[in-house]
This record gives sequence, C-alpha cells and structure tokens, in this order.
Amino acid sequence: MEKKIPLSTPTIHGEELQFVQEAFDRNWVAPLGFNCDGFETETQQYLNRDGRWPVHALALCSGTAAIHLAVKLAGVKPGDPVLCSDLTFAATVNPVTYEGGVPVFVDSEPDTWNMDPEALELAFQRHPGARVVVMAHLFGTPGKMDELLAVCQKHGAVLIEDAAEAFAADYRGRPCGTFGEYGILSFNGNKIITTSGGGMLLCRDRGDRDKALFWATQAREKEIWYEHREIGYNYRMSNVVAGIGRGQLLHLEEHRGRKEAIYRRYQAGLTELPVTMNPWLPDTRPNFWLSCLTMDPDWGLDPMEVVRKLGAENVEARPIWKPMHLQPIFRDRDFVKVRERSVGEDIFSRGICLPSDIKMTPQEQDRVIELLKKIIRREA
Ligand SMILES: *Cc1c(COP(=O)(O)O)cnc(C)c1O
Repeated sequence: MEKKIPLSTPTIHGEELQFVQEAFDRNWVAPLGFNCDGFETETQQYLNRDGRWPVHALALCSGTAAIHLAVKLAGVKPGDPVLCSDLTFAATVNPVTYEGGVPVFVDSEPDTWNMDPEALELAFQRHPGARVVVMAHLFGTPGKMDELLAVCQKHGAVLIEDAAEAFAADYRGRPCGTFGEYGILSFNGNKIITTSGGGMLLCRDRGDRDKALFWATQAREKEIWYEHREIGYNYRMSNVVAGIGRGQLLHLEEHRGRKEAIYRRYQAGLTELPVTMNPWLPDTRPNFWLSCLTMDPDWGLDPMEVVRKLGAENVEARPIWKPMHLQPIFRDRDFVKVRERSVGEDIFSRGICLPSDIKMTPQEQDRVIELLKKIIRREA
C-alpha cells in the first residue's frame, strides 16, 4: 500500500515548542497566562494589520465554545428563531440549541457555497421575529458579506460569523471573522493552523469580550468567596495550548500560500475532467483550507463512490458537509430556499473534499490527480 495522503493534518514547525517551553520554564502551564494574552493580542494584530478592523479576542477551548458564547452574547432565548447556514458543519448550529434557540436553515448560493442573501431575506419574511443570524464561510471561501450584512441591518439582526474554516481569508480586503458583531475561529487539528484543539471569540465591543470571559471562567463574581449569580462554563484555553497557537500564528500566511498552491495545482490538473473546483468571488482572498470539486450535474457518479475508491488507494477524501436540513436531528426545523432545487443539496450530491494537507508533495498530489482521472472517467 502506498503512503497515506491525508485530508488535512497539523503542520508543526518549531516555534510552538519554544512558547510551550517558556510556559514550562516559568512553571506556568496553568491556569491562564502570558501565552493566552500573547495569542489573543497577536491574533488581534493579525486581523487588524491595516488598522481598520479592531476586534477584542478571547482564547477558548474550542470554536464550538466560542459560538456558544456568541449565541449567549447575542441574547438568544428559548424558542427564538435563529437563521443559520444550512451547508456547514453541525458545530455552527449546535450551540444555538444549547441556549434553546430554534435553528432555521438558510440555503446556499452557487457562487461561494455560503448563505444566500436572497434566501436570508426570505427567511426574515417567514420568521419576522428572528434577531440573530449565524453564517459560516465554508472551506475557507468568504461569503457574500456586503449583501448578507445589508439584509441583517435591514432587519436589525446581529450577525455571528463562523470563520472556523476561514482564518486568513479576506473579503474585499477585510478579514473573515471581523464582519459580524461576533466572529469565531477554530484551531482544531485539521484547520489551517491548530493548537491541537481550541478556538477564539472575536468581539467588536470590549464589554462583550469581558462578559464572555466571565461566563468562560465559571461566572465567578468579584467577591473573595465563590459567589455566583449566573451559570458559568469552563471554556478557557490553557497557557500551554496557547503557546502552540502563538507558534502556529507565525506560519499562518505560509500555510495559506501552500493551501492556495494545492488548489491551483488541482485546478490545472483536472481541466479535462467534467468537474469544477469550489468557486469563489474574484475580489476575495480565500484561505483555500480545503480544495473541493463538484462533478458536472449529468455525470451521474456518486461522490461516496469516489471517496470510497480513493480510500481504497490510501487517499483520504471526504464528502461535502451534509446539509443541516437533511440531518435527522433537525428534521422538524424550517428550511428556506429560493431555488427549486436546494443549492446545498445539489453540492452535497455532486461534491467531494480533496486531500489538502500542506505537507503533500507535488508528486503525491499528482498521484491523487491521476487517480481522480481514472475514477471519474470510470476507468477504475
Ligand atoms: C471546525 C468547525 C467548527 C468547530 O470548531 P471546534 O474548534 O472543532 O469546536 C465550527 N464551525 C465550522 C464551520 C467548523 O468547520
């Protein structure tokens, strides 16, 4: 069997260990400390590199925890409708339900695969009480932010921007994660940079960040004894984990560049096939976290079959996220679309995520491309 070609795994460099070592040397592995502070400040500086997009960052134990705190900050109460991306990972939506919110799923548009502004408008008409929107930038491709923000503003709604997959992606020069009242990043093991596991909440308002910090540290009131007036959580990132993040952050742009090279190599290598790479808008800068393709509508090949055949050759591909409105757990929730056929369902029925690990050599990627040619032409 040839060497495994993985979908996306951590790429560690060396500086990570220096920051972690410092935590050990200072006997400061817990609780919070200088690496958490440093990681937050350096993330803020990265996002605000041209001085226009200031945010207040809070390092947390996962991206999911960050979404949960954003949902709380947005004031979601039991029974409230919350308009959510449909084509995404379940972690975008699950935290809405932790607060008793009722997700309403909004279809994707075909130009970026993200939340369709027209479908969002229709969702507000169907759910006039909705005050919170949770949108995700899928696979590192920025959504149509100008249009989405305009719809949110029109309806006085708060935007929570799930940029878990889109750290280092920009829309018209503005970093993903800085558009919403709240943004979130993930440093899970397969993301563009990783801390082994972790996340970041990005707030426009300093007071919001302070409130989230309070909830994330057990909602302990400022008394000498343990005084609690609210339910709290244990959601903070440790000083060791944050050290890994600081080291990774030094390589974020480099990772993005390597991801883009992988995408472009697939694009060049697959031109003769009846496939299209995942699309993006010309005035955006995706981070190309995962390279994806869709097979032409009439091609009739099941993507699960392609994933299985690649797997048999030790090449790890994955299906596109299965839309939330098709998930058994969300069967009873409303789904809003503006086209006859759901765009998300269509992408799911024809698409796959390709190996996008930045340690993949050009030779290894060529092996994937040759295999894809055979499988998609039904020669293997
Ligand atoms: C990975 C991911 C998350 C969750 O992040 P964790 O850090 O794993 O909790 C949320 N949303 C999307 C779209 C993701 O891809």
